[in-house]
Amino acid sequence: MGGFFGVVSGAECVEDIYYGTDYHSHLGTRRGGMAMSCNSGVIKRRIHDISNTPFRTKFGAESLAVFKGCNCGIGVISDDEDQPLVVTSKFGTFAIITVGRINNIDEIIRKELNEGVSHLCEYGSGEPNPTEVAAMLICRGDSLVEGIARAQQIIDGSLSLLLLHNGAIYAARDRYGRTPVVLGTRINADGSVSARSVTMESSAFPNLDFEVDCELGPGEIRKITLEGTEVMKKPGCCKKICTFFWVYYGYPSSSYEGVNTELARYRNGASMADQDEEYKEKIDTICGIPDSGIPHAIGYSNRFGRPYQRSFVKYTPTWARSFMPPNQSMREKVAKMKLIPVESQISGKKLLFCDDSIVRGTQLGDTVKRIYEKGAVEVHMRSSCPPLLYGCRFLNFSRSRNEQELAARKAIAELEGTEELTPEIIAKYQVFGSKEYLAMVNVIRKKLNFTTLKFQQLEKLQDAIGIPREDLCTYCWNGCDPTVDEKNK
Ligand code: SF4
Repeated sequence: MGGFFGVVSGAECVEDIYYGTDYHSHLGTRRGGMAMSCNSGVIKRRIHDISNTPFRTKFGAESLAVFKGCNCGIGVISDDEDQPLVVTSKFGTFAIITVGRINNIDEIIRKELNEGVSHLCEYGSGEPNPTEVAAMLICRGDSLVEGIARAQQIIDGSLSLLLLHNGAIYAARDRYGRTPVVLGTRINADGSVSARSVTMESSAFPNLDFEVDCELGPGEIRKITLEGTEVMKKPGCCKKICTFFWVYYGYPSSSYEGVNTELARYRNGASMADQDEEYKEKIDTICGIPDSGIPHAIGYSNRFGRPYQRSFVKYTPTWARSFMPPNQSMREKVAKMKLIPVESQISGKKLLFCDDSIVRGTQLGDTVKRIYEKGAVEVHMRSSCPPLLYGCRFLNFSRSRNEQELAARKAIAELEGTEELTPEIIAKYQVFGSKEYLAMVNVIRKKLNFTTLKFQQLEKLQDAIGIPREDLCTYCWNGCDPTVDEKNK
């Protein structure tokens, strides 16, 4: 997916951008980049491949030296393309970072080339660079702000961005607010402002001494300078923030829409425990599949009244990154090597595990096999969200790119005897507690060898998060979204 961070400061801010960007490393695996400028207005840029080495290691002293003296800049962790891009345009030179997804990228390119755009440069990977396409759309506007709004209107998918121009940062949140954008300020001892910042993860702020000011609304565009922030485009009214930020993606110390991720996960775990009264006397310990299942499991355990214990520990000294490599077989290998079973916590026990979600189920199946090998008597599994039935079409959400591989879809295909799953067929299996739903869950349970398996209900997950249900994107569970419905009319 990716994440970004930016600072405008009264003094050099290279370290702020370096550490602030690094705090988004859990959101992407491939590229890390920074672009900065100083009073001369010249923009300097560095991009590194971070697929095997963490961002902070890649940007050593040499890389940082190039930014010496810069007092404003933007940084990005990207799951796909090279960025930031530095673009010279009729508005002057700017640097741009985007987070999102462009489903209609080929159509946009065709149309723009037909209408006078002469070429695109960033084809080194053989694919168009979505950030360059967004920049192209922006440059066709009458002003930067009008261009950003135009790009957000044209793009099918989502687009949040940071744009560095003439010592100011333009921050724009996706039209439907799929991804968060948070503004912050650092105050001097005398009460004056020493720097302003913009981030996707609010957890980047505390250690850099920034305080949260506000979150941008859907489609809102702000211009950030040291003097203040100016609303360049007011927020729209339809919000569909990605629910997965609270389920899995978001860092535990971050908050979105004023709701802390860790606390939402505790509430969600407690809600799952409330639905498991019948198992009260049958479970010995509660465990979380590290790391993202742990807070759900803590919430479950606290409510359930059975101890939380670690039956797997993560080997963090060398497997520090929470995300996996993009290649599937490598990902499975890494996932296995990272997790070490604690046999004394497993042997002879009836264990209940919480995981954030069940995507393909392949890694989970392997993990369960290892739990039984270490002597578990029973393995009960609770997924903190409903069965995933649709691939994400708004963010490059790497865990569910191929719909056919989703464990729930495979189970339906098995029950229906066909892989041609129409929305009508899937709709029957979406209804919590229906006979089709229960049959689907049972197929997954048997395949992964769980004693019992339950998925959290969508409404209960939404309530655990606690913002209005209609403000949460739920497309990957129910295939419903006003923007998609609009297109299909
Ligand atoms: S489809 Fe799922 S992963 Fe994608 S934005 Fe919506 S909730 Fe998030």
